[in-house]
Amino acid sequence: MHYNLPDGTYKKNPVRPLIEDLDELPFPDFDLFDYENLDRSKNFTAMVMLSRGCLFSCTYCGNSQFRNIYPNKKKYCRFRSPEKSIELLELLIKKYPFIKFIEFRDAIFNMYKEWFYEFMPMYIERIHLPFNCNLRFDVLDEDMVRMLKEGGCYMIDIGLENGNEEFRRKYLHRNMKNDMLIQQAKWFRKYKITALTYNIVGLPYETIELSLETIKLNAKLDVDKVIPNIFYPYPMTILEKTAKDGGFIDPSVDPNDPVQLRMPQYPKYDILYIAYNFNKLVKKYKAIYALSPEEAAKKEAALDKKITSKHYPRKFLYKTAKAKEDAFIWAKKTLKKVSPKLFIFLKNKTMKEVRQ
Ligand code: SF4
Repeated sequence: MHYNLPDGTYKKNPVRPLIEDLDELPFPDFDLFDYENLDRSKNFTAMVMLSRGCLFSCTYCGNSQFRNIYPNKKKYCRFRSPEKSIELLELLIKKYPFIKFIEFRDAIFNMYKEWFYEFMPMYIERIHLPFNCNLRFDVLDEDMVRMLKEGGCYMIDIGLENGNEEFRRKYLHRNMKNDMLIQQAKWFRKYKITALTYNIVGLPYETIELSLETIKLNAKLDVDKVIPNIFYPYPMTILEKTAKDGGFIDPSVDPNDPVQLRMPQYPKYDILYIAYNFNKLVKKYKAIYALSPEEAAKKEAALDKKITSKHYPRKFLYKTAKAKEDAFIWAKKTLKKVSPKLFIFLKNKTMKEVRQ
């Protein structure tokens, strides 16, 4: 806290240490919200967080910077104990029996193996509601995926971010081998869990060729859903500094511009083209990888060449894809306003397909 002193100066208090044991905290007061009318409640879903913080230090994420401000930063990543976590969930579903699904919003649900292996059997026995959660590849093992399935996990979200191993390690501080990612993604297929990846496009020093590697890695992982995000340089993060040092931050760029960096090797409209066509391109490469290896190699090279050619109308294709997406968003908003019941019905129908 900062406060003004009578002499015109101000005093800055030191940051309070973190509460290290989350079990000391009471359970959330659900009555603070109109719980029945939350958007998620209408889909019979409760959003829950059993932890705070994250152990990792990805350069684009605010977590490592938040961690650094605390005097006891080694305790930044904390979970409620498995027993208290289950009690919280029991309280929630007793109070709101209409809740049929749980959405765990913890940064990384499989952060601590010990916690996970103690929590899951209790969840299976005492809660057993279908759920989705965020995972991280390099702390994952097959038993975890099997146990997630046993507990009712129907979908996982997982960060892939960039498809080039070396680039990912150097600029994002995510040290994971592509072979390992491909191997681990097979477990989601094996246990029939929908897999969704998060990806970033337009990172400092990235090129369109590197973005294609991200698209192709998603295709090789054969994931069900992909979310491409355009890089935004969050203040005080390592990657913001990298972008500044590289001369990619132009102060005249509107902070609401979807593309913040101005990079000669990866122009704005190429970034937008990739972001708006990401899903479609993953599907195209997936279809190619289903062919025989010789045919796949030929078609892959031809598609790479076409997309990266200087004559390819990327700006036009971005605008077409954007117009389509805008129309879809408009239709969704209008339906929600005009016929909220039909909107909820359709949303539940889509979710039902994912949850099967
Ligand atoms: S693993 Fe996720 S939450 Fe943790 S630092 Fe990386 S991006 Fe942030």
